[in-house]
Amino acid sequence: MTALTVDTLAPELTRQDRCDRCGAQAFVKATLPTADGLELLFCGHHFRAHELKLVAAGATIQDERHRIDEQAPERV
Ligand SMILES: [Zn+2]
Repeated sequence: MTALTVDTLAPELTRQDRCDRCGAQAFVKATLPTADGLELLFCGHHFRAHELKLVAAGATIQDERHRIDEQAPERV
């Protein structure tokens, strides 16, 4: 289940981007292959929780979790 196109080019997520589930800083953006290209934001924890469903739905994943260590962690 790792046949994803992971875009690790220019970072897009900022401190203003928040996990849709818990409000923590988001490090993963998932774009669903729908007509409106629905974008979902996840913290590392919630991305792991939903990763299989997102992959199954054919979402494009922008994974910036490598940046987590570069910033002071917030409430997890
Ligand atoms: Zn979260």
